[in-house]
Amino acid sequence: ILLKMKIIKNIFELNKAINNYNNVGFVPTMGGIHKGHASLIKISQRKKLNTIVSIFVNPTQFNKKKDFDSYPRNIKKDIQILKKLKVDFLFLPNVKELYMKKMKKFNLKKSEKILCAKFRVGHFEGVLNVMNRLLSLIKSKHVFMGEKDFQQYFLIKKILGKKYKINIISCPTIRDKNKIAISTRNKLLNKDSIKKASCIAKELLNLKKNLDLKKLKMRVNLLKLKTYFEKMYKVKFDYLELRDEKNLKLKNFKSKCRIFIAYTISNVRLIDNF
Ligand code: AMP
Repeated sequence: ILLKMKIIKNIFELNKAINNYNNVGFVPTMGGIHKGHASLIKISQRKKLNTIVSIFVNPTQFNKKKDFDSYPRNIKKDIQILKKLKVDFLFLPNVKELYMKKMKKFNLKKSEKILCAKFRVGHFEGVLNVMNRLLSLIKSKHVFMGEKDFQQYFLIKKILGKKYKINIISCPTIRDKNKIAISTRNKLLNKDSIKKASCIAKELLNLKKNLDLKKLKMRVNLLKLKTYFEKMYKVKFDYLELRDEKNLKLKNFKSKCRIFIAYTISNVRLIDNF
């Protein structure tokens, strides 16, 4: 039994530390640890897995340098929180070592270039690249990912889940009392933006409750709603769309659907789904 969180800073230490374990649960993050991350960790721990958290602000998934530079980082506080949560291992790779090896890059199909793949060109290629590297090192069979980043979960499950024959487990979105999905980026919001983001989240949560009746009519209403939000809250939407959660298609819903949004508010880009 491990009592103390082991902090691992390079691949050599990683191999030494986790080679002996076959029941490892992996929670990849970019740090700024919050209740959303904590819920993923707790789900892994409930499954009695030795839990490894990685913190790595991955440069290849940022399509704007300014966004990468301003991404909130606070490793000292993160370590404190993760220790309290009784995480077994914390992996803190550096860019040079993680990207040293030449590995196959991933390209998305045309049909996959939707939602954030359309509006953040190269983003998911970067996410798949780093996750491919992390998964090749951390031989975990169970990876925990948040529904908050649904398209990320969807693509990793589809592309890397198959490749590594691993279990990609989706975990519910944790929200603040004001209903905003908790995110590291929320630290960049001012009071006014928080109020507006809270209103948008509440309205969409409400709408989702009454969704199943007439899905097609809903789509028309969503267009109106997007315009209404943009005018009312002075935000700019990349998308506000209703899609099937099994295949992310816009039509012929086979299973449950979700409302996906991405918008920019006072220079911060937020995403969510309901
Ligand atoms: P990030 O550090 O933002 O890259 O997120 C790391 C992981 O935590 C991803 O799988 C996210 O989907 C997940 N996550 C982030 N925020 C939340 C949240 N509010 N609720 C649940 N999971 C989350």
